[in-house]
Amino acid sequence: MQITYASTRNANCRATASEAILKGLSDDGGLFVPDQIPALDKSLSELSQMTYQETAYTVMKQFLTDFTEQELKDCIQAAYDSKFDTEEIAPLVYADGAYYLELFHGATIAFKDMALSILPHLMITSARKNHVANDIVILTATSGDTGKAALAGFADVPGTKIIVFYPKNGVSPIQEKQMVTQKGANTYVIGIHGNFDEAQTGVKRMFSDQALRQQLAAGGYQFSSANSINIGRLVPQVVYYVYAYARLLAKEEIQEGENINVVVPTGNFGNILAAYYAKQMGIPIAKLICASNENKVLYDFLKTGTYDKNREFILTSSPSMDILISSNLERLIYRAAGDDAVRNAAFMQQLADGGSYTITDAMKKELSDFYGGFASEQETAQAISSLYEKTGYVIDTHTAVASSVYAKYKTETGDDTKTVIASTASPFKFTRSVIRAIDPRQEEKDDFALADELSTRAGVKIPRAIAEIRDAKILHHTVCDAADMCQAVKQVLGI
Ligand SMILES: *Cc1c(COP(=O)(O)O)cnc(C)c1O
Repeated sequence: MQITYASTRNANCRATASEAILKGLSDDGGLFVPDQIPALDKSLSELSQMTYQETAYTVMKQFLTDFTEQELKDCIQAAYDSKFDTEEIAPLVYADGAYYLELFHGATIAFKDMALSILPHLMITSARKNHVANDIVILTATSGDTGKAALAGFADVPGTKIIVFYPKNGVSPIQEKQMVTQKGANTYVIGIHGNFDEAQTGVKRMFSDQALRQQLAAGGYQFSSANSINIGRLVPQVVYYVYAYARLLAKEEIQEGENINVVVPTGNFGNILAAYYAKQMGIPIAKLICASNENKVLYDFLKTGTYDKNREFILTSSPSMDILISSNLERLIYRAAGDDAVRNAAFMQQLADGGSYTITDAMKKELSDFYGGFASEQETAQAISSLYEKTGYVIDTHTAVASSVYAKYKTETGDDTKTVIASTASPFKFTRSVIRAIDPRQEEKDDFALADELSTRAGVKIPRAIAEIRDAKILHHTVCDAADMCQAVKQVLGI
C-alpha cells in the first residue's frame, strides 16, 4: 500500500515520502501528513522478539513506502549503531511505579538523537531518489537540543550544509557549549537576540520566501528542515513507542493486548504525536498524557479548546519545552478537523493573525485520547528530589515535568494502567537544575564540576557527550538580531 503525503493547508499539495522529507515544510506553509496511518503488519508478540533496528524497519517501511527495503535498512544501520551507548538503543527503567523510556543514549544525550541520527541518511537517500543536484541547506531553529543533535547528524555529510539558530540567552550553558564547539566544515551556529519562537518564526519565513528560494537555486542550493515538522523526524519517533510496548511484553510486565498509558514532556508536540501515531498503528495505548511546564499553552488548549499564544513567555528549567507555538499540533488539528485542509488553514490563519483559535466541540471530542497536565518549577524540582530520595534514580528537568504530571494524573483519576514516561534528556544535560533540586548547597560549582558531583551521586558514568566538550575549543561566535537571520544565511552561503 502506497502512502502519499498531503499538506495540512492545501489538499492539492501532495508529495511522496522522499519528496516530503526533502522539502520539510510544504510550499504553502503547511505540514506534510500521511493520507492514512498504516497498520502494523506484525503481531505484538512478533514485535516482542525484535531488536530496535528490526522494529525501526517494521514501523518505518509502512510510512516511507517509496524507499526500497535496502535503502531503508541501510539508513537504519547507519543511524542506530555505536553512536548509542547501549545496544538496546532505548532502554526502559522501572522506578517508583512507572517505566522510564530512556531516549537519551545517543550522541548528544537527548531524545532528538533518536530521529536526527537517521534523518541525514533519509535525506541523502531522498535526494538521490529524486535526482537532486543542489546542495541541501538544513535550516533549523532550536530551543537547545535539536540544534546539537542536527549538527551532530549532518556534520561532514557530503552535499549538505547546516545552519542552526538558537536563542542566545535561552539555552543551558552545556547546551550552548555543545553547539558552539561543533566540528565539521559544513556546520554554522548562530545565536540570536530573541527567544525560540522568534528563531522559529524567522526560519519559517525564510522557507516561504520565494525570492530567497530563487537566489538559493541560482547558487546551487535548496533548503530543507531538520525541525520536528519534517516527517523524516516524526516517523522514526513512532518506532520507540512500538519498541517500548514490545519490550514490556517481552519482559512479561504486561499481557499481550493490555493497554498502557504514555506520558510525554511536550514542547513542539512532535514526540507525543508520534505516540498517537503508534496508537493508530495498533499499539494498545489508552491515554496520551501531554505534560507541559509553566508555558502551559497546550494544557489550556486541551482543557478549553482554545489555543492562545498571547501570554508571557516563561524561561524555565526545562528550556526545550519553552514554546508557545507547538508546530506539530497542526497535524492533530488537521486530523480533528476531518483531514480538512481548508478548515485547518483557517485556524492557522487565526493563529497567525490574532495569536489564537478555538476548535469546535466535535473536534474537541476527537482529542479525547489526550490528557493535558502541567508542572510548576517547584513541582518539577520536587519530582527530581523525591524520585532520587525514594529510588536513587536521577531524571532530568524535562522528564521531571512528565513525572510530576503523571503523579497528579494518578491522584486525580485513580487510573493505575501501566505507564511509560518518555525520558527525554540525560540529567547530565541539565546538571545545574538537577543538582539544585537534590542538593542546593552545590550551586557554587561550575557546570562540569557539577557533572562530576552528579556522577558520584547517581552512580552513573559521565556520558561521552559531556566529557568530550569539557575542554573543546569554541568554533562558532556569530550572534545576530532576530530580524537579521536572513542576512546571516545569505552571508554563510555567499549568495
Ligand atoms: C525537544 C524536547 C522536548 C519536547 O519535545 P517535542 O517533540 O518538541 O514536544 C522535551 N524534552 C527534551 C529534553 C527535548 O529536547
